[in-house]
Order: sequence, then C-alpha cells, then structure tokens
Amino acid sequence: RVVLKPREEDRLIRGHPWVYDNEIARVQGSPVAGDAVALESARGRFLGTALWSPASKIRARRYSDEALPFASHLRPALDRALKLRAAEFDLDRESCRVVFGEADGLPGLIVDRFVGEAPDAVKGSWLSVQVLAAGMAAHKSAVVEALEAALSPNGIMERSEAPVLAYEGLKPSVGILAGSVPQSLTMLENGLRFEVDLASGQKTGWFLDQARNRAAAARRAGGLRVLDAFCNQGGFGLACAAAGAASVLAVDSSAPALAAVTANAARNGLSDQVSTREANAFDLLRELERSGERFGLVVLDPPAFAKNKASVEGALRGYKDINLRAMKLLEPGGYLVTCSCSSWVDRDSFMSTIADAAADARRRFRVLEERPAAPDHPALLGYSESRYLKCAILQAL
Ligand code: SAH
Repeated sequence: RVVLKPREEDRLIRGHPWVYDNEIARVQGSPVAGDAVALESARGRFLGTALWSPASKIRARRYSDEALPFASHLRPALDRALKLRAAEFDLDRESCRVVFGEADGLPGLIVDRFVGEAPDAVKGSWLSVQVLAAGMAAHKSAVVEALEAALSPNGIMERSEAPVLAYEGLKPSVGILAGSVPQSLTMLENGLRFEVDLASGQKTGWFLDQARNRAAAARRAGGLRVLDAFCNQGGFGLACAAAGAASVLAVDSSAPALAAVTANAARNGLSDQVSTREANAFDLLRELERSGERFGLVVLDPPAFAKNKASVEGALRGYKDINLRAMKLLEPGGYLVTCSCSSWVDRDSFMSTIADAAADARRRFRVLEERPAAPDHPALLGYSESRYLKCAILQAL
C-alpha cells in the first residue's frame, strides 16, 4: 500500500497514471520492482493499483482502477488493446502499434506489430517490443507469453534501448524474445511497400504514428516539388511521390536511413522522382533558401527536441528556426506539414511557435488540419504525455 501526501491525488483522479517519489507519504511493506501496489490518498481514498519501480522518480504507474493483481489484468488489458486496433485497422494487412503503454493500461510497455514478408518469402507478423519501466520489466516473460497466446506472431524482437531506461535502473535489452525474427521485412503502408529493419532501425523499426499523417500530406502533393526534411526511411516523401509529386528531396543526417529511402523508392518504382541528401537539416534549409530553391510542399518531422522540462525553451527555438526556414522555401499556395513528437511541448506552445516563425518569415498561412498520432497511439484523458504528436498542415497564402 502506497499512501500519498495530502492533495497529491488530484492528478490521479483526473486520469494521470503516475505517482512521483516526492508525492509519497509512506509505503507499507517493502515492495520490489514489478510488485502491484494499492494507491491511496492521504484521506484514505483508493486510487487504483500500480506497478512499482523502486529506482525511478516515477515510482508507481497505475494499470487499473480496480484492486486487481497484475497477472489477472494483463491478458484482459491486451485483449482490450487489440479490440481497439481491430476496430481501426485491417489487422490482416496493416501494421500498427498494438500496445501503447499507459494508454492501454500496460504502463511502460510498447508493442508494434508488423505485417509483411520476410526476405525468404515467409509471410506473417512480427512484434517489436519495448519495455521501458522497471515495474513492467519484472513481468517480461508473462508479457511475452500473453503476446504469443493473443497474436501468434512469427517472432518477437525486443528493442528496449531508450535513454529513459537509465532512470528506471534498467539496462538496455535487445534481442529475440520468441520465434524467429528476420533482420528486415517488407510491409505495406498506404499501399506502398517499405522495408522495416526490426533489428537495428530507429525506435521499433518504423514510425507507425505518422501513417495517416503521411497520407494526409500525400493528398496535397500532386504535381508539387516536395522537401521531406528529417525523412528517416522516407515515409512522408515516398507517400507524396506515389501520389504524383513532381519530385521529392529526402533529407536526413543518417546515412543508413537514406539508404533505406533509396531502396524503398526503387521497391515502389519511384526512383525517378526521389533523391536523397545527407545533411543537418538546420543547415540545409538555410542553404536551400540562400540558393533560391522553392518547394510546393515541405515536411518537417524532427526528432523530439525536448527530452525533459528543462530543454523545452531550447526546443521551441529549434522548432521556430526550422519552421521559419521552411516557410521561406514555400511557393505561394504551398503546404507546410510540420510536426512535433515531444510530449514536453504542448499543442498551444507548438502552434504559437509556428505563428512566431510565420511572423518572422513575413508570411501568412491558413491552418488546414491539426492531426494527432494515428488511433493505434491512443491518448489517455488527463495524461498529456500520451498526446505527444502534433502534426499541423498549413497553406501559405
Ligand atoms: N519523418 C520520418 C520520421 C523522422 S524521425 C518518418 O515519417 O518516418 C527523425 C529523423 O530525424 C531521424 O531519422 C533522424 O536521423 C533525423 N535527424 C535527427 N537530427 C537531424 C538533423 N539535425 N538533420 C537531419 N536529420 C536529423
């Protein structure tokens, strides 16, 4: 049993699932990592059951509002998570995130499911798993068992290597957890074939959260010259090329990512339209502007500039800088697809930073769409960390 200090329960009552170490008045018993603890307010109100992470500032993560052992919660929670995806995706053909941590009642657990074909022509599905909290890591073998029982994947790959692991007292853990996992596989997104590197691609191999935002960008790309900045493996740029963009310049600082863009372009018969450039996007945007280049559609999908509260201000300067540069590159009527995936930067400060950039660029824009992550990355009301992705589509006047 974990009793909170007076008035620390408000956030939990409003839906936020975390208890920080400095909010705890006392702990009864001596829980170890992974133990289920009952949460209680100072006045004795029951606040749910949480997994204990003894080394982390986020000391407990609630998984249920009931008094339920984790072993009885795991499979029903997984089944609920799968039901949501089945309602939103064609699971026979589409890859998606099947578990999104706290928002699925499985704190610290991320599971991406890729449907596709291995190089030896074996068709099937593979899971890429990240276990990012000590409380969940203690249940890893039960999680693997539940995933196998619920989804019968050909293989399960673990990719727990995010920097946050250190705060949990966890070591990076990468390897095959079950079955067999090919180095890479080919999957479909928006009708295009992409190679996904399950063993060493960034994060779990592919950024599934942007799938529908890529389609939204592509809808506007017909006939235009497109710049895909921070392109990774070319998700946005190739969707635009397939939708009839005149040309696509895909920019990233990672050479392996660009090699994947080139291979993906060839795989989809788009090589003629797509070229790549290895560069620091901050510098390249300036350089393109100086040399008088113009684009009809620019995508900005940088990595999370803010990794914590302290770096938010610097992050906003970064967002302002790239948006200002991109705005100057746009033809009249051109589109800016601008994203932030930092949970520390909320929607209002992101949009107001973009407005600052427009003022400095001396240009006017219409906001055509503001889009969140795809519905396989659901957000928990009251837990703004789960609404991390912002994708705004603007049009220059
Ligand atoms: N748009 C991609 C995801 C981008 S992830 C998609 O749709 O899948 C962010 C990318 O930015 C990574 O591929 C990373 O290699 C790249 N990156 C990080 N810093 C960069 C910089 N300064 N200049 C160019 N690319 C950068």
